[in-house]
Amino acid sequence: MEMGKKLIFILVDSFMPHVLQEARNRGSVPALSFLVEQGAYWDRCVTVFPTMSASVDASLSTGAYPEMHGIPGLIWYSRKERRVVNYINGSKSVWRMGMQRCAHDILIGLNETHMHRTVFTLFEELAHHGKTSASLNFAAHRGPRKYRLRKPGLSKIFLAGLPSAQVSGPDICTVGRFIESGFMRSLGWNFHHTMFQRYGLNDRFAIDAVCRLIRKRKLPDLTMIYMPDMDYAYHRKPDNGPQILARVDRHIGRLLNSFGSPEKAIAQCKFIIVGDHGQTRIGVETEATINVAQHFQGMKIAQAECVQPQEDDIVVCNNERMCYFYPLQEGVQKEVIKRLSMDTRIDILAWKERRGVRIGYGKKTLFFAPGKDMRDEYGREWKVEGDLAIADAVPRENPEDSVPILFFRSYPDIFSRLYGALYAQEGEVVVATARPGYEFFTPNDPIHRGGACHGSLHETDSTVSLIITDETAERFERPRIIDLKSYILHKFC
Ligand SMILES: [Zn+2]
Repeated sequence: MEMGKKLIFILVDSFMPHVLQEARNRGSVPALSFLVEQGAYWDRCVTVFPTMSASVDASLSTGAYPEMHGIPGLIWYSRKERRVVNYINGSKSVWRMGMQRCAHDILIGLNETHMHRTVFTLFEELAHHGKTSASLNFAAHRGPRKYRLRKPGLSKIFLAGLPSAQVSGPDICTVGRFIESGFMRSLGWNFHHTMFQRYGLNDRFAIDAVCRLIRKRKLPDLTMIYMPDMDYAYHRKPDNGPQILARVDRHIGRLLNSFGSPEKAIAQCKFIIVGDHGQTRIGVETEATINVAQHFQGMKIAQAECVQPQEDDIVVCNNERMCYFYPLQEGVQKEVIKRLSMDTRIDILAWKERRGVRIGYGKKTLFFAPGKDMRDEYGREWKVEGDLAIADAVPRENPEDSVPILFFRSYPDIFSRLYGALYAQEGEVVVATARPGYEFFTPNDPIHRGGACHGSLHETDSTVSLIITDETAERFERPRIIDLKSYILHKFC
């Protein structure tokens, strides 16, 4: 990076290569096309697992897989707290579990309680090196400063019992109207800040905020911006992908023009634009939703809002195209695996075994653990036993070394990603992913029949677009979300 340039990092929810390609062909995304032409573009950047925002945000910010940072999904069961954690996915389950509890999880829990203190966020590390940073609606924003949590508008009513806690963040920090730095306070009432627009947790709010920083010449060294709108729209209407991305593009265009022109923007700043996960189309037929409860007849499934570890058999945490199952009693795990293995709509079924992971049940299974048998294409070493075809992984002889190199195909980086999800959690946990075209269903959770959703290990959910200006394609042979933190730190420190 040229000396003195500031960095603007934009996380676009559900930013997918095939959608960008189509939109560029139509000429409907001039701002993104401009940025692609100013640097390098990768169409197969690999994200972490589960392919859900909370885990990805924490991995982006800490540069680590979930086993290191401790955020195993959007919805998961904390054995320590004996309750289901939900970072709010905008679904009905939020109302079922209580707005207050979910708001607590996303506004306080994620950064202050759940994300391990043994890892450091980008904001913490930059502060340590004397650099300034901003988080505009980015979920994993733990940083050097303290902010008081606000309860804007009507949220006062349903968040009445939420403690007036302090939350940490970087030098400049917004989480919609719940947390706001001084520079936002003078903003008048605006429809985009109301309950109907998720209290500012939307694209317009985040872009308005960065434009304000630019015009006031208060842009810090790093600005992280989260844009959620593409996700919401694409879930419902995947056919409209290019048009939905064109709306995102207009906001990014507005950001570039707030410097005077796009050319002036790139003269002053370096830009990174990346997605958090992809999405996969879900069939229209009833069978497209895997009704989890039907597999557990005779078992006591815990109520999400009130888990009773002494009496319940199992806790189910649905993350759309992946699902976590937490056995609470002796012998339940084996039964759960057996029953789930009968459902042909389930793709990868895995659990912890001897400090490693077992995938598949019955005759053909695969076991892997940290070890020395093989080196994967990202350089991590594994002990491997069983049928690699289950993970669609192919070993190749390495001319420079006796250790074969393992290449992944339909499930990018599957070993580290699966290991990361399972070992982010204590005790027994079974994970299942749905085949393309299918999703999991638990009562009160949203269904996406005829639409699209995500969560699985499959490449359709796992590969995202990555744009970096002032960079060449040689910089990353196979980029991953977890590589971006060290890349950013290296540019600054
Ligand atoms: Zn989504």
